[in-house]
Amino acid sequence: MQNKKYWLGILPHVYYAQQKGKALLYNTKTGAHILTDSKLIITLLEQMHEKQNLGVIRVEAAISEQHSAFIRESAAKNICFIAEAVENQPKPIQLMPVLNLQRDMEKLQREDDRFIGESVLHYLSDITIYLNDSCSLHCCHCGQYDRQTAHCYKTDRTTHFDFELLQQLFQQLACAPLRMLRITGGNIFEYRYFNELCSWLKKKKIYPMFGIHCQNVDFAQLHKIKEFPLEIFVNFPAQKEIVHKTGAAELPRCSYSFLITGEPEYAAACAMAEECHLENYKITPIYTGNNVSFFEENIYVTEQDIVSERVPQRMIFAHQKLNSHFFGALHIYPNGDVKANPNQAVTGNIVQDKLLQIAERELTVNTAWRQIRNGEPCGQCLYQFLCPSPSNYEWVIGRQNLCSVQKMQSR
Ligand code: SF4
Repeated sequence: MQNKKYWLGILPHVYYAQQKGKALLYNTKTGAHILTDSKLIITLLEQMHEKQNLGVIRVEAAISEQHSAFIRESAAKNICFIAEAVENQPKPIQLMPVLNLQRDMEKLQREDDRFIGESVLHYLSDITIYLNDSCSLHCCHCGQYDRQTAHCYKTDRTTHFDFELLQQLFQQLACAPLRMLRITGGNIFEYRYFNELCSWLKKKKIYPMFGIHCQNVDFAQLHKIKEFPLEIFVNFPAQKEIVHKTGAAELPRCSYSFLITGEPEYAAACAMAEECHLENYKITPIYTGNNVSFFEENIYVTEQDIVSERVPQRMIFAHQKLNSHFFGALHIYPNGDVKANPNQAVTGNIVQDKLLQIAERELTVNTAWRQIRNGEPCGQCLYQFLCPSPSNYEWVIGRQNLCSVQKMQSR
């Protein structure tokens, strides 16, 4: 290898981040990675990333041992390539990926007169409609309750979603490629137009998922929604007999969501699922304000957690521009108010605004859809865009970093 020259290039599927004297090279195809704080190697990587070098630089054969070790490791992990530089042969072309989302939101904000039009409805993917805010449970875990923040949005006044307005809303949603359409309450069985709604949905062949707290289950009315997907929320202390009874009822599309606040409840949820022979259930931790140690022990991520699960390149790109939990989601309340996230401000009201106007407003105002990890300390972290987008847990716990990677920092 003496006297020879080589091309050293970074491969296009590699995500590169550099922060505070450290660099991370992450193979988005395999999850293999190299973490370095070597000044020598970081200088080499910086040269590769200089605009004119297009990810490829020429290296001498007689390079230092530290460089050689890095080159061997990066080639073995399919992070860099090395090729002999042959006289009169051109430099290999390396097309480095550029973040270029079809609709760059910031570009939209700059172009004031640009109207996105009907196509904004294509962003809508997850709609939750709250039929009413009537519910006899106090601080339960129904639709008015944010399951990540343990906050009940129920008011003393009972409002029922105007049925005509609801039908108009469904017509607007017909253009949206929804992945999830949820209908919940309050208590859906107390919705003034519940019978009319069930008949109308069946006639139109629209099958949203109904959501109900197990204590609100009305067995005399359950047959009206047995063709629909149904999610039953269960919190603790749980009413096992109700779970048993719904498990035995003929509800082929029924699933359960156990809302737990600690390890004993986790164990109880698993035991109940087994005892009631539940096949379709999930367990969701909720933050109460008093169970932060449960979150620290079970939810907070370590450096090892982050790199042990492969994060595809398109997901890393998405994390740089939008919030993958909230983007495309809208919550529509019985008075017509619309929020992109139950914990954030109202973005519009469907009595006055078209859904596409509300979606367009959310794109620019950004209460939730484009919330990314650009605050402290995530904005200075190597894993900024490998980590999942911030969720409501971060918001309610009051810190961006639910991890043990960066120094704990309160909001
Ligand atoms: S500081 Fe933020 S970006 Fe870094 S690992 Fe923690 S949560 Fe992820």
